[in-house]
Amino acid sequence: MEKNLTQTNKLENESRVIVVTSGKGGVGKTTTTANLGMSIARLGYRVALIDSDIGLRNLDLLLGLENRVLYTAIDILEGQCRLDQTLIRDKRWKNLALLAISKNRQKYNITRKNMQNLVSSIQELGFHFVIIDCPAGIDVGFINAISPAQEAIIVTTPEITAIRDADRVAGLLEANAIYNVKLLVNRVRPDMIQRNDMMSVKDVQEMLGIPLLGAIPEDTNVIISTNRGEPLVLNKKLTLSGIAFENAARRLIGKQDYFIDLNTPYKGMFQKVQEFFLGKE
Ligand code: ADP
Ligand code: MG
Repeated sequence: MEKNLTQTNKLENESRVIVVTSGKGGVGKTTTTANLGMSIARLGYRVALIDSDIGLRNLDLLLGLENRVLYTAIDILEGQCRLDQTLIRDKRWKNLALLAISKNRQKYNITRKNMQNLVSSIQELGFHFVIIDCPAGIDVGFINAISPAQEAIIVTTPEITAIRDADRVAGLLEANAIYNVKLLVNRVRPDMIQRNDMMSVKDVQEMLGIPLLGAIPEDTNVIISTNRGEPLVLNKKLTLSGIAFENAARRLIGKQDYFIDLNTPYKGMFQKVQEFFLGKE
């Protein structure tokens, strides 16, 4: 009995549960979840993405999996299906799975305990990463979404309203004992920063005092990829935003070699972008 318990704990410790959150809506949480998830899966890990929105899911669209959502977590709770029936495996990368909490018109009061049980059942299936896409707002949906997580990524744009909400969320995460928090600054426009019309990534990072995971440029390709249901990181010829997401994914899994690999053809360009965003060290 005791041995079993230890084994379960060990398994759970090996996998990471990360919530992608923001405070302000529309700053890029779902885009981040889809691209980081796909990147990490391509690096060989088993990844489960959870769309935790009740009633307004859209992660399935970004991944092009919308026609395959037959069952949701709510169906499990209602005894309509098993967990494995709710996990939709991506055809491009079979080690990536998506689980939706609910369908668009499905309403249900999911509890924190429900979320925690769901995530630990997914962990028991051997997923290395469980990434939870947070719903908008900081009410009950937010509290449920963060409750199974040990780590968080706060997404913000370099706008003062988004930064203030990000700061508020950082406080809420801490109050809920999530101390491993990283920052992703999205929709950065170097031209505006240069004209002093936008805060630099470094300024945003310093204001919030949260370690930086990545900076993603404003890029129309993000919208194109959303409409196609193909995360940017799948593009054969990576755009700048695709490179930036891949880089963030590598940082997340602790592979920092991306910056120093001289054989990487994008290094020169990426380093320039980094310097542009962050300023030379
Ligand atoms: P959230 O999940 O936080 O509400 P989304 O990921 O759905 O945000 O993004 C909101 C909108 O912003 C979408 O239309 C998306 O295509 C767009 N978007 C997100 N990131 C970028 C970016 N880096 N460049 C351009 N558009 C972006
Ligand atoms: Mg979203």
